[in-house]
Order: sequence, then C-alpha cells, then structure tokens
Amino acid sequence: MTMSQGTLYIISAPSGAGKSSLVSALLSQTDDIKVSVSHTTRAARPGEVDGINYNFVSMEQFKNLVTDNAFLEHAEVFGNCYGTSKLWLDDQLNAGTDIILEIDWQGAQQVRKLMPNAVGIFILPPSQAALQKRLDSRGQDSAEIIAGRMAEAVSEMSHYNEYDYVIINDQFEQALGEMRAVIIAQRQKLAIQQARHAKLLADLLSENQ
Ligand code: 5GP
Repeated sequence: MTMSQGTLYIISAPSGAGKSSLVSALLSQTDDIKVSVSHTTRAARPGEVDGINYNFVSMEQFKNLVTDNAFLEHAEVFGNCYGTSKLWLDDQLNAGTDIILEIDWQGAQQVRKLMPNAVGIFILPPSQAALQKRLDSRGQDSAEIIAGRMAEAVSEMSHYNEYDYVIINDQFEQALGEMRAVIIAQRQKLAIQQARHAKLLADLLSENQ
C-alpha cells in the first residue's frame, strides 16, 4: 500500500442541527479519520474540555496566532473568533489521515480556495421548528442567545448550496449512515485508489506473470 494524501472534509451546519453528535458517532465507527480541534476565544460550555472540544484561548493569544500565520482559516462567528491551526492539519493529511473540519461557511469558503479538493458536507435540520426545539433543549444558553442563534442559523443555512453534499438530520441513525456513505464513496474514487493502491494496480496490469 502506498501512502496517499488524506482527504479534507468540511462539515458545516447551523447551531442545533446535530453536527457535533453526528461527527463524534462517525469517528467512533470509522478508521483513519480525525477531527481538527479549533481554537476559539469563546468561553467553554459546561462539559467542554480544553484541548478536546476546542483549544480555548484569550483574544490576545488568538491575535498572536493570526499574526504568526498559524491558521489555515479563521473567522468571527456569533461575536467570537474561531480558527483552524495549519501545522497539525498538514501533518495529518500528509500522513494519509482523513480530517474533518467542523467550521462555519466563512471558514469553508477560505479552505475551499486553498484546498479545492476538500469535500464539503452541509447538515440541515428537518424544519425550523425542530431546530428551535433543539436549541431550547440544550438548556445552556439564555433566551436572548437562543433567539440570536436562530437568526444566525437561518443565515448559516443560506450557504448550504456551496457544499458538495447535503444531509438532513431528521433520524440520527439515517443521517449518520448517509454521512458515512459519503466518506466511504470518497475513499473509492479513482485518484485516491490509484495513489493508495499503486503497487496492486501495477501488479494487476503486468503481463509477465
Ligand atoms: P460553537 O461555539 O457553537 O461551538 O460554534 C459556533 C460556530 O463556529 C459553528 O458554526 C462552528 O462550526 C463554527 N466553528 C467552530 N470552529 C471553527 C473554526 O475553526 N473556524 C471557523 N471558521 N468556524 C468554526
């Protein structure tokens, strides 16, 4: 088996569409794929762990990282800054690992320009009512923040048509299966199989048996 470059997946969704749960279930069922841990200036929510959910940094630290050119992309979302660090990502992709970026549409646009082979997946809720219910049932944010997020969700969703795949998360298991199907299909693409199985392909086509 020859080492091939990993595939970069960009997964975006409005807040409350179930993106993080889908991604963590996907990771537990799929080999050779990891999620990039972003940097953010927002405060950790209850249950979130520094270095696992995000790298939580101050505004000053974030600005220094921007100055040092440490980010592949960065954007302001809901008044907080978020960024994807470049070094880890390049190492992983070069080692042949597939990587998921859970980022917003602004970051997705930046990454697509730099890495046109990235595969975009957008996750939608089944209805506005379901989204509202999911935002409420989190029970972690104030009503004002939830109302603000509902408006932001609509604006995030307006970018769904910039992605290669659209998944509607109505039934969790079905949406998970659909997301896995995208990754499994991507792994069988011609260029990827040619890089991964160069020796096998050469052997299969050789005439001196
Ligand atoms: P939350 O604060 O709810 O975890 O995330 C808010 C939004 O920021 C989500 O749309 C999420 O995808 C996005 N986000 C998280 N990390 C990054 C990142 O590194 N870059 C960009 N551009 N967006 C991010």
